[in-house]
Amino acid sequence: MTNKLNPPGRGCNEAESPKTLTVAAARETILASSVSVSGIEKLALRDALGRALAEDIVSPVNVPGHTNSAMDGYAISGNDIPGDETREFKIIATAYAGKPVSLSCGTRECVRIMTGAPMPAGTDTVIMQEQVNVKDAEHALIGSGHRPGQNVRQAGEDILKSSIVLESGRSLTPADLGVIASLGIFEVSVYRRPRVAFFSTGDELRSAGESLGEGDVYDSNRYSLYGMLKKLNVEMLDMGNIGDDPAKLRTAFKSAADTADVVISSGGVSVGEADYTKSILEEIGNINFWKIAMKPGRPLTFGHLDNALFFGLPGNPVAVMVTFYQFVLPALHYMATGNPYIPFQVQAVTRDQFRKRPGRFEFARGILKQEPDGTMSVASTGQQGSGILTSMSTGNCFVLLPEQSSGVSKGEVVQVQPFDFFAT
Ligand code: AMP
Ligand code: MG
Repeated sequence: MTNKLNPPGRGCNEAESPKTLTVAAARETILASSVSVSGIEKLALRDALGRALAEDIVSPVNVPGHTNSAMDGYAISGNDIPGDETREFKIIATAYAGKPVSLSCGTRECVRIMTGAPMPAGTDTVIMQEQVNVKDAEHALIGSGHRPGQNVRQAGEDILKSSIVLESGRSLTPADLGVIASLGIFEVSVYRRPRVAFFSTGDELRSAGESLGEGDVYDSNRYSLYGMLKKLNVEMLDMGNIGDDPAKLRTAFKSAADTADVVISSGGVSVGEADYTKSILEEIGNINFWKIAMKPGRPLTFGHLDNALFFGLPGNPVAVMVTFYQFVLPALHYMATGNPYIPFQVQAVTRDQFRKRPGRFEFARGILKQEPDGTMSVASTGQQGSGILTSMSTGNCFVLLPEQSSGVSKGEVVQVQPFDFFAT
């Protein structure tokens, strides 16, 4: 079978002897196979928080809608600003926010004005009330030192009518909801959420609440996967633990692909006797089986199962999370938004040594913090084995140690990727 993932000349043999890829090459191939979801739904503005816009938001109005005062004070014409002397102005009216005055202001006349009130005709400048000497109910004295146009917010200075305010694909933030509401828009079109089905594989896995037999372990991967997916605003289908039974796995693969855009399994991708993921994917889908030059998370099965993308993640709990953040997350982000995923990274000074040999990209877990002098520092979480899941909960970032790196000493600067800052 030939397709984008298995071009002629490479074919299925690759599944037998996995190709070693760099992290960057694996990510590129995965992204090239990801297609953004096409379904669109209209939602009430509040319900669209975190969802990807499926339309440009074009402003039907100027914001602010009218030129208005930025201060409580007195509105005058800029031509009337006194030079070195103090001038007397006649107070002809009072303007409140939401209650404009219809009078026009003439020479040596002013309008008492409140913040947000539209500027009356004939005025373009506001003198703060603290700088005005009110002589009596009808007269005010204004001195020198003012600038024409001061303390006035111009119509459209935040948003111009007909301008594109937010572009299609943007994941809506709390501020975006406010910006959209400021245009008077209360419903928006967003892309439907990608549907993700996930399951564990492993006869040794038990669910919390069950008792452990000898050699059994509790299934933690479905919980960490749930947590990472939950933060991404996707639709989830938790299919449980399928075990290491080829027939059951085949059925699970098929039913997952029937309903989901993305199928994620964990475990069963090594070359052990009970590792069926790759052979089943090979049989009923299209497969790329890779050994990725990374640690943790070396083996990864990636391919298509009908129209769904399939990720066969490793079984080790840290490897599951690392490969999710590095490969599944960028694909899901692209599918949900149509935009590339750019992980947030910062530089930090190491507070520990990170040992490493050149050859593999290592994602060490670190604790990033801000020092009292404002600089960022990163400490190691300690043991870095791919089964030490507490390193992911103690830590808050990956310390990026690229392929060619031979480790870093304490005090050196490294690139760090916080776990929970997703795409920018
Ligand atoms: P495998 O890739 O299936 O050989 O699994 C590698 C290691 O990860 C084994 O020690 C498994 O017991 C462990 N493992 C696999 N799946 C899970 C899971 N869902 N939760 C916790 N540990 C797992
Ligand atoms: Mg297994």
